Amino acid sequence: MRVCVVPLNTVAFFRLTSCRIPSTRAREAACPSMSIEVGFGIGKKMSKSKDRIGQSWGTSAAAEIKRLREKIAKLNKELEDKDWASRKTNEGIKILYKELEKKNEELKKISQLKSDFVSIVSHELRTPLSIIKESILLVLDEVVGKINEEQKDFLRMGRDNIECLVRIINDLLDISRIEAGRIELKKAPVDFPGMVQDICSRWTLESNKKYQSLQVSVPESPINIYADPDKITQVLNNLVSNAIKFTPEKGKIEVELKDKKGRIEISVSDTGIGIARKNLPKTFGKFQQFARDTGSDRKGTGLGLAIAKEFIEMHRGIIKVESKLNKGSKFTFSFPKMDAEQVLKEYIGNEIRGTVKKKASLSLVVIHILEFDRLLGELGYDKVHNLLKNIEKMISGSLQCKTNIIVVKETGELMVFLSDTKKEDARIMKIRVEKIVNAYLYKSREKQLKKIRITYNHATYPEEAANVEELLNKARAIS
Ligand code: ADP
Repeated sequence: MRVCVVPLNTVAFFRLTSCRIPSTRAREAACPSMSIEVGFGIGKKMSKSKDRIGQSWGTSAAAEIKRLREKIAKLNKELEDKDWASRKTNEGIKILYKELEKKNEELKKISQLKSDFVSIVSHELRTPLSIIKESILLVLDEVVGKINEEQKDFLRMGRDNIECLVRIINDLLDISRIEAGRIELKKAPVDFPGMVQDICSRWTLESNKKYQSLQVSVPESPINIYADPDKITQVLNNLVSNAIKFTPEKGKIEVELKDKKGRIEISVSDTGIGIARKNLPKTFGKFQQFARDTGSDRKGTGLGLAIAKEFIEMHRGIIKVESKLNKGSKFTFSFPKMDAEQVLKEYIGNEIRGTVKKKASLSLVVIHILEFDRLLGELGYDKVHNLLKNIEKMISGSLQCKTNIIVVKETGELMVFLSDTKKEDARIMKIRVEKIVNAYLYKSREKQLKKIRITYNHATYPEEAANVEELLNKARAIS
C-alpha cells in the first residue's frame, strides 16, 4: 500500500494503489487519527484524473469553508450573548456591592450605637451600685448600730451580688472600649515577681474556702519590666479566679513565673474540671461559657478571657490554653520584655507621629547621675534604687499633666518626656527639675548624695531633632 497525503485546506487525502479497504471501520483501523479526512476524500469515488480530483476537492473545500463560516458566525453570536450577559452580571455586581457597602455602613453605625449604649449604661450603673455597696458595708460593719447574725447573712448576700454585678459591668465596659479602640496601655516598670506574689496572696482566702492549695513559684531576683500593671493584674486575676472557680475542693492550683530569654512567661494550672477538646478553639471568644450548668457559684459573663487575650496582644504577647476534660487546665501567657530604652523609643515614636499631624513640638529632659557605678558601690543597690524612685516621684508630682512619662534607667538616667512642649518651655522645665533634685539632695542625710554630680539637658522635636534617635542623642549630649 502506498499512502500519499495531499494537504488541501484542512483536508488530507489518501490514495490507495495496491489494496482496497472494504469498510469504514477497517479504514479507521488503518489510520485512526485521520479517519475523518480519509473518509471525506474516499467517500467520493476516487478518480485517476488530477483535474477531477481538484474539482472534487474544490467543492468539498467550499462546503467546508461555508460550514466553518457558519460555525464562526454562531460562535460570534454566542460570544456576543456571553459578553452581554457578563456586562449585565458586572452591572449587577456593582449594584450589589454598593448595597453591601451601604448595609456595612449601617451595621457599623448600629454596632457603634450598641457600644455607646453599653458603655453609657454600664458607666451610669457603676455609681449607684458603689453607693449601694458602701451603704450595705456600713450596716454590715455595724457602724450605724448593732444587727443580728441573720440580718448580717442577708446583707452579705446583697454585697456579694453587687460585687458580681460590678464585675459584669466592668467586663462590658472593657469590651466596649476595646471594640471602640479606646483602650491604651499605660506602661511603667513593673516588678513582676512581686506583683505575681501580691496578686496570688489576695486569692489565698478564696482558695482556702475550697481547701485548695495555691502554690506560687517566681524567680528570687527582681525582674523589672515595662508593662501596664493594671492590665496584667486584671489578666492574672481572671486566670487565678477561674482556676479556683473551676477546680473542685482540695484541688491544686499552681502559678509560675518564668524569666525566659527576651520574654516573660506566666502560667496558671489547675486540677479542675477542664475544657472539652471541641471547646478549646472557642475559649478566648466573647461570651463563651462551657460550664454554666455545673454549679451555682460559676456565674460570669464569659468575657474575662476575651479581654485577657486583647490585653496580652496589646503587649505584643500571646495567650494559650491546654486542657483535658476532668483532669485540669493550664493557661499560659507571655510577652517580650522591653527595657526602659525600648519603651521610651516606642513611646516617643508614637508621639512624634501624632505631633506631625498636630504640627506641635515635644521635648525630652534627661537627668544623668555621673559616676553612678561608684555611687552604687558606696551606697548599695537599695539606697540608690530608692534615690531614683524618690526623684521620679517628686518630678512627676511637680510637673503634673505636662509630664507624660518618666523613664528611669538602672544606669542612673532619668528621662522626662514632655508632650506638646516647645524648646523655651522645655528649658524652663529643665531648670525646675534641677531645683527640685538639688533641694532633695541638699536635705538628704547621706553625705555621698550631697556630693553627687548630675547633668541636666534637654532637646525638642522638631526644632532640634528630626527623629527619635536624634532627639535622644541631643538630649543626652552633655553640655
Ligand atoms: P467567665 O469566667 O466569666 O465565665 P471567662 O472568659 O473567664 O468567663 O471564661 C470563659 C469560660 O471558659 C468559662 O465560663 C469556663 O467555661 C471556661 N474556663 C475558663 N477557665 C477555666 C478553667 N480554669 N477550667 C475550666 N474551664 C475554664
